[in-house]
Amino acid sequence: MRICRFDDNRVGIVAGDEIADVTHALDILPSVRWPLPCHDLFIEKLPDIAADLQRAAASAPRKNIADVRLLSPVANPGKIIGAPVNYALHMEEAKTDSAINLGKTIRSIDEAGLFLKANSSLIGPGESVIAGQFGRRTDHEIELAFVIGRGGRNISEANALDHVAGYMIGLDMTIRGVEDRSYRKSLDTFTVLGPWLVTPDEFGDPSNVDFEIKVNGETRQKSNTTHLIYGIRKLISYASHAYRLDRGDVILSGTPEGVGPVVPGDVMECWIDRIGTMVVQVAGKPS
Ligand code: MN
Repeated sequence: MRICRFDDNRVGIVAGDEIADVTHALDILPSVRWPLPCHDLFIEKLPDIAADLQRAAASAPRKNIADVRLLSPVANPGKIIGAPVNYALHMEEAKTDSAINLGKTIRSIDEAGLFLKANSSLIGPGESVIAGQFGRRTDHEIELAFVIGRGGRNISEANALDHVAGYMIGLDMTIRGVEDRSYRKSLDTFTVLGPWLVTPDEFGDPSNVDFEIKVNGETRQKSNTTHLIYGIRKLISYASHAYRLDRGDVILSGTPEGVGPVVPGDVMECWIDRIGTMVVQVAGKPS
């Protein structure tokens, strides 16, 4: 099943070029009082309502995908976890390209650990990435992203995929500089998730998935998750030994070689096999 959030926080099931509007399924979500939970309420309930969503989609009103504004499929992740330098060829380009490393020592994920991105950076493909903030080079990083559906601590690699609620295309935007990743990758609009959430039964094995990003029609990054240094199972286990994972937590698995700058007016066309295509516009700094 392919689940999207669109327009004014409506929920849809994607079928071909159309979206079946199943927003009424949200009626089951609890109303909450302060303090708010630190997990996503929709992702929490998804196992209970998945069958209902699918049934409702058959007779629900439909819209063309082209006519809606797609939002991040996950509305309230408790945290957004990033994987630094998780592809060997990206490590090589980061080590050799001084415009990327700026004199810093580049360490791979086994030495660097993980990093967190601010939740306020999160947008969907129907919004635009803002490039050129602080007058700095702004780079695209396409990544296979996924959301945790069952939380836990100290999760084993063997059971790790049982904790995934679905997969998405992720953009981990970044400004180049010497600051901490949590600063450079957390500017507003710097985390893009979409175009929809593909559930694991439909997505299948995440260990051998092709993906590509084109900017203005030109291929910039093209790789396969088989080249991940820490694959999806190991990433989940690794993260869960540092942080308690909650339902709705998002993990971005890392980017391959080919990172490069975007400027206002550019169009990023992101594709991941078994998910689809997500088109994201690059805008300039708002006045
Ligand atoms: Mn990244």
